[in-house]
Amino acid sequence: MSNTRTHADGDERDGDEPPFAFTVEATAGDARAGRLRVRDTELPTPAMFPVVNFYGGGRPRSFFGGGIYRTVKELAVGVERVDGVAAPEYFDATMMSVASLTDYGISEDLFETYRDTELLERSEFESLESLLFLDSGGFKFLGDGQLEGNGFAVEMDQTAVYEIQRDLGGDVLVNLDHPIAPDDDHATRVEKARKTAENVETFLSLTADSDAALYLTLHGYNYSMMDEFLETVTDVVPASVLREGFDGIALGSLVPKKDDREALIQAVSDCREVLADWGMRDRPLHVLGIGSRAIPLLVGMGVDSFDSTTYVQNAINGKYQQSLVDTVPLDDADFDRCDCPVCSSDVLVSRMRGDAEYKKDVLGPVAVHNLIVQKRDVAALRETVASGETGQVIQYLEDTLGHHETMRKHAHAVVNRSLGGYF
Ligand SMILES: [Zn+2]
Repeated sequence: MSNTRTHADGDERDGDEPPFAFTVEATAGDARAGRLRVRDTELPTPAMFPVVNFYGGGRPRSFFGGGIYRTVKELAVGVERVDGVAAPEYFDATMMSVASLTDYGISEDLFETYRDTELLERSEFESLESLLFLDSGGFKFLGDGQLEGNGFAVEMDQTAVYEIQRDLGGDVLVNLDHPIAPDDDHATRVEKARKTAENVETFLSLTADSDAALYLTLHGYNYSMMDEFLETVTDVVPASVLREGFDGIALGSLVPKKDDREALIQAVSDCREVLADWGMRDRPLHVLGIGSRAIPLLVGMGVDSFDSTTYVQNAINGKYQQSLVDTVPLDDADFDRCDCPVCSSDVLVSRMRGDAEYKKDVLGPVAVHNLIVQKRDVAALRETVASGETGQVIQYLEDTLGHHETMRKHAHAVVNRSLGGYF
C-alpha cells in the first residue's frame, strides 16, 4: 500500500521522484510500519516528532535562545558549550508551531529575521536532516486571531499562517484549523468545522505549487463527529479534491483529553474507520499533541506519527526517563546505566547533578537524554511492528504497559480493538 503525490501543477521534471511518498512496509493488526518521504528527507514510521522551539527570542549568537530549548538545540548539533556532544539522529523529525514564534515577546525586526531564511538552511542547523512539521497553531489563534510580539501584532488568517510555514521551510504543513473543545455544543462544533473548511479551500489554493507534504486536520472525539466534520468540509471542497490535494491526516483536538485514555482510544480507532470509509486509509495518520505513555497505544492502533513535548516537560518536572513509559526522579537517576551520548559525557553528567550556573544547563541535557530514550524505544516498537507478527506487538504492550495498573486495561482495549484480541 502506498500513496504518492505529484506536483499539483503537473510540472514534475523528468526522472524526478514525486515530492511525497508514504509506503506501508508491514502491518500487524492495525499497527503499521512504513516510510515517509518528503522531498529529500526520509523517515521510518511510526515516528515521534519532538516539539522544538527553534526560535526562542534570541539572535544567532545565542543559538536563537529559548531557555532549555537553547541547550536542546546545542546538543542536537553539538557545540563546544555542551562538551561537543551531538545527537542529530534523534532529531530526524521535529515539530514547531508557528504560534510559538513570538512566545518570548520578540521585536518585529527579530520576527522578520526569523522569516528571512528557511530554518534548516541556517548554518547553525546545517547538520540536522530533519523532517520539519510546522503546525498551524490553530488552538492559540482561536481567541483574538493574532500573533503578538513586542510592540507589533500580525493578524493570523490562513494566508498569514501559510506564508510563515513557507518562509520557515516546513516539510509537513497543516491547514489553519479551529479545534473543538470538550464543552462545545453541536452548533459550535459545526461552525468551527465550517470555518476550518474555508481555510482548507484557501490552503489548497495557496499550496498549489508547494512540494511540502500537506496534512488535513480532522477533529472529533468519535465516528459521528469526525464524519460530520468531513461532511461539512466537503460542502466547501469536494471529496475528490480533498483526496487529491492532501497527503496525510492530522487528528487534532485531543490534547484536552490526553489523560483520558479511553476517550483517546475511541477517537483514534474511530478515526481509522472514518478514514477507511472516506477512502483515505492509505494516508499517513498523525495525532497532534499526544505523546509519552500513550505512544504504544497509538502505534498499536495504526497511528504513523505523533508529536510530543514530554521529553522537555519531564525534564522540567525533574523526571529522568528510563523507558518510553517509565521515569525516575532526577535525584535518583543512575547515569552510569545509560549509554546515550549525554550520559556518556562526564561534563554533562556533572551538570545534570546540579553543577551548572543556569537551570537550562541542568535540564537541557536531561531533556535530550529523555528524548533519546523515547526515540530508541519508538524505534524498537517499530521493529516489532515491522516483524508483521501481531503476537509480538501484543507482547510488547504487555511488557511495557502490563505492569502499570492504570495502563493495563487500556493496553487490553487496544489489543481487543486493533490487534485481533487475545488468543
Ligand atoms: Zn542517557
